[in-house]
Parts: sequence; C-alpha cells; structure tokens
Amino acid sequence: MASVFTKIVNGEIPSYKVACDDRYYAFLDINPLAEGHTLVIPKHEVNYIFDLDPEEYSELWLFARKVATAIKMAVPCKRIGVAVMGMEVPHAHIHLVPLNSEADLDFRKKKLVLTPDEFGKIAEKISKVFETL
Ligand code: AMP
Repeated sequence: MASVFTKIVNGEIPSYKVACDDRYYAFLDINPLAEGHTLVIPKHEVNYIFDLDPEEYSELWLFARKVATAIKMAVPCKRIGVAVMGMEVPHAHIHLVPLNSEADLDFRKKKLVLTPDEFGKIAEKISKVFETL
C-alpha cells in the first residue's frame, strides 16, 4: 500500500508545498514543532532513509540543504535543526525545524496548531525564497 507521503506526491492527499523538483518534494509538517517545520522526501517511496541508494541519498540531502537555506531566509530563527526518525511514516524523510534553542527540537513537546491560512502563508513565503536560490 502506498505511504501517506506517496499519496501526497501523487496529489491524492493535500499538502502545503514548499519546494519540489522531479525527484524530491518538500512540504510543511502538519503537526509542526515550529512555524516552517518542513519534511523533505524522495518522491520514490523507500521506507528507511539509510536504504536509499547512495546517489538518491546524497541528492536528498543536497535538496534538503537548499530547502533549509530557504527556510532560514524566510522564517526568523537562529538555525535550522535536522532530525530523521520515521517512527510514524514509513517513507524516508528529513525533518527541517527552525530553532531558537535546543528545546525547539524536542518531539515530545506540544505541537503548534495553525490555521490553513497560516500554513499556506508560511509555505508560500518559503517557496518564494526557494525559487530565488
Ligand atoms: P516520523 O515518521 O516519526 O518522522 O514522523 C512523521 C511526521 O510526518 C510527523 O511529524 C507528522 O506530523 C508528519 N505527517 C504525517 N502525516 C502528514 C501529512 N499528511 N502532512 C504533513 N505532515 C504529516
């Protein structure tokens, strides 16, 4: 069965798109730790990130680097934190989280609740910056 992220890539489930090319896709996490919390995925579904072939693995991280640059420019924060877990969704993905302190990357903390309008505005802001890079 296709993962929820494959359904997003195929447009069967909506997402707040931040960036994409023909092989990789970035969109806002629906339960964000911070405004601008983004997930970066290969469109090709592979469960475990360390099972990606070396080329796809490297390209995914290079794509994530560009997305992180765009988030950093669009969202006020000190740094972009990175996490890889995959405990919930079995489709390789990288979390990019705007940080102002170490505590901002604590996945046990209460997630932000944003309106569709707020999600849409953040995604648009990041994607506009991404297009200039
Ligand atoms: P994990 O697999 O543990 O790295 O966590 C999966 C992440 O995907 C969680 O932070 C979820 O909030 C996020 N997530 C799950 N479904 C969606 C969705 N439909 N759109 C955006 N983010 C999602």
